[in-house]
Amino acid sequence: MVTIRSRFAPSPTGFLHLGHAYSAVVSWNIARKAGGQFLVRIEDIDFTRCREHFCDQIFEDLSWLGLEWPTPVLYQSRRARAYESALQQLSDLGLCFPCCCTRKDIASALSALHGPANEPGGLQRHPRYPGTCNHRLMANRRSGDAIRIDMRKAIECLGGPDAVSVLFFRDVGPLRSGCHHLDPDHLVDHYGDFVVARGDIATSYNLAVVIDDAAQDISHVVRGEDLFAETALHRLLQALLDLPIPVWLHHKLVTDASGKRLAKRHDAMAISRYRDMGWDADALLSSLDLRKCP
Ligand code: GLU
Repeated sequence: MVTIRSRFAPSPTGFLHLGHAYSAVVSWNIARKAGGQFLVRIEDIDFTRCREHFCDQIFEDLSWLGLEWPTPVLYQSRRARAYESALQQLSDLGLCFPCCCTRKDIASALSALHGPANEPGGLQRHPRYPGTCNHRLMANRRSGDAIRIDMRKAIECLGGPDAVSVLFFRDVGPLRSGCHHLDPDHLVDHYGDFVVARGDIATSYNLAVVIDDAAQDISHVVRGEDLFAETALHRLLQALLDLPIPVWLHHKLVTDASGKRLAKRHDAMAISRYRDMGWDADALLSSLDLRKCP
């Protein structure tokens, strides 16, 4: 029998809000109902935005909601070696190239190719990397260069388009339930050569999340449906790095009264604010209508 291990993996860049409470509790429920384990992981790779005091607040909020998790928790900021070795593996496969393009460079290369973003058929329909640095060798990586994966080479490395199109990921949530196959054309056209290490940070969200879910033996990746599009890249990286494959549960996003999804700057919806106003955690959770989730 598979032991369920789920996780809640916030980035300490602001206060947790009702959307985080929803996500954490869905993840907690899935593990608890199966007698499994729920973990908390702090995704603090972006030192430009993460703050220590938000970590303390995260633990306080989650405890107030009644959740428990084993300690010590994993902090991504302390995992540089694991990410470095994954990058080396990808590089040894001949899939990486260094990239010095700024967002502005990419936008102007794309608009030269396809027309400006605001023209029909322009930039927004072709958001993928234009391939400017694709010929460069890792041996010539300069300080501040990002690292990208050459998507076509990655597909070839996995056996070509036919082999890739039988790769799938399974979602067990109410919104996206079923098997989602990787479409090689979509990988090339939509994602293109994607970043696995930023210039200023020696990893990326996509790489770190895949490495840590594997290291922590996560069987169920629970998160909001805003991250659904990233899952194809995660599945691709798992295949390239020969990592175990979890199942996913992408859940709905909690919105405010006007239907807009909550952001960390929505302090009015911060969990701590409800606590300060005297709310009881059970009442707060009932207001989130968690019944439709497993
Ligand atoms: N750290 C991400 C966030 O706070 C969540 C990542 C994940 O669950 O895969 O949005």
